[in-house]
Amino acid sequence: MKEKIFAPVLTNVRFAFFMYVLGLISLLFVHRGGRHVSVFELVVDVYVLCWVLYLLPLKVSKCVKGLFYVIAYGLAIVDMFCVYRFGAPINSSLVRVCVETNQREAIEALTSYVTWQSISFPLFLIILLLITQVLTAWWHPKWAIQRKLNPWVGIVFLLFCVAISAKNKWFMYHNLVQIKTSIDLELATEYPHDGGFYLPFYRLLYAWKGISLEEESVEKLEENIGKEKINGCTYKSPNIVLIIGESYNRHHAQLYGYALPTTPKQMALANDSSLIAFTDVVAPYHQTSMVFRLALSMYAYGRPKDWADYPLFPQLFKRCGYQVMFITNQFVPSVADDIFNFYGSVFLNDPEINQSLFSHRNTRTHLYDMGLLEDYDSLRTYQKEHNLVIFHLLGQHTGYRERYPESDERFLPKDYHRKDLTADDIKELAYYDNACLYNDKVVSEIIQRFKDQDAIIIYMPDHGDMCFDNGTKVYGRTISVNTKDEIVQQFDIPFWIWASESYRQRHPDVWQLVKAAKNRPFMTDNISQLLIYLAGISCPYYRDSDNLISPRYQTHRKRMLMNEIDYDKAIRE
Ligand SMILES: [Zn+2]
Repeated sequence: MKEKIFAPVLTNVRFAFFMYVLGLISLLFVHRGGRHVSVFELVVDVYVLCWVLYLLPLKVSKCVKGLFYVIAYGLAIVDMFCVYRFGAPINSSLVRVCVETNQREAIEALTSYVTWQSISFPLFLIILLLITQVLTAWWHPKWAIQRKLNPWVGIVFLLFCVAISAKNKWFMYHNLVQIKTSIDLELATEYPHDGGFYLPFYRLLYAWKGISLEEESVEKLEENIGKEKINGCTYKSPNIVLIIGESYNRHHAQLYGYALPTTPKQMALANDSSLIAFTDVVAPYHQTSMVFRLALSMYAYGRPKDWADYPLFPQLFKRCGYQVMFITNQFVPSVADDIFNFYGSVFLNDPEINQSLFSHRNTRTHLYDMGLLEDYDSLRTYQKEHNLVIFHLLGQHTGYRERYPESDERFLPKDYHRKDLTADDIKELAYYDNACLYNDKVVSEIIQRFKDQDAIIIYMPDHGDMCFDNGTKVYGRTISVNTKDEIVQQFDIPFWIWASESYRQRHPDVWQLVKAAKNRPFMTDNISQLLIYLAGISCPYYRDSDNLISPRYQTHRKRMLMNEIDYDKAIRE
């Protein structure tokens, strides 16, 4: 009986061997998380496959085995190719691009990048393994150790593998089957985890799950178009501008006490009291796509149902007769060249939803954010009596050096006295601060455009970024968020409201409320409430207690970062 336990493997020993090695190659060269569990989990997976083959009638078993080979090698090659071509293994963005772009485009896009350089070493390994398997097809090892091996050793080892991989199997089951919203799905898999979707096949399943959940959200949004309930609009503010920045860590803004002059123009505006800097604002997530969903939706943390069950605020504006412009340096409707923003922008670029949200959009991205001003100038002719303009910057996104033209470089490594950092790190730090300085120029240029209008502007970046603060030695974003430093740098964001002189004169009541609110704790998932209030739109989705400048604003609302971390509690600790 105990010998029987290994009969499936012994009958399919070639299959088991080559599948294990193939899995191991993927594991070693693609997997970024811990691999310790996966090495053993792979044993279990191959073992189970062998049982499947063993239980089937011989003829069927041969066909199924062939199918397994095709899928396993095919996916391993595609997966490895993606890693070297796109910097990421199979994921929902990539799958979506393959499914949604037409075939000719997809083939062109893929083949145009097949160069000898992209055929990398691990990819060669996979092909080499395949060739070896084909060339040794005549060889069927007798498995001499069969009789020498004490089956109990094998059984114990197998049990050990099962035990060690059980947790990861539960993790995959939970993500693929139990999770019901795309927010929860992204959240659950953002955490570092020993194991995870460790094989290309599992990654494909996970990608499909992500796409299907996102599709559900898009469907819900589509279904709800035109069903928004609006009671009326007073057009309190005729021109509302929302600037959504990118990766701005508040602690690098001079406006918030940073030692270097990174925001001279915003400082000047704050000094003449036309700009009110809010002191205690955090982002709900540290990923652009997540923040976009929550910021645009009338939903907020702690509300019933999903973000897609609520209307998006630009829809309400548009329904009320506001001209809604979206001028983005990231999510332009053509996404062929912007594969990594595809996932985040997918609901915005769905034709029906796009039409319900915006009156006008720009159609190209720019190397530097200042290019968006050209787009605004050309769209400006469409401005009507009531306008909502949403700027979406590339801001201080990683690759800091690429975010500003050389002529705007001001901070140099010699301006920093950080003995704990390497020369390269100090350069990176200077690049970030230069990007902050350039951002200052961009936002002040936007303000210039609205100086003579009856206009109010709100600035918020999507989230912050790690940038060597407080003696830390890292920059960019961390996948998981554990320490106070990681929270503070990635979630503390600058947030300000500027109003033109004519706005302050015509709406002294609103301006008074803005000034009174500047020290309130706020999380930007509720930004829609403020905007709706500023427009004077009355609708059932408005919650006075969530409106940052309302006298009835609830300062005690829990600010749960990533649905998970109580910001105020974590900061106090
Ligand atoms: Zn972002």
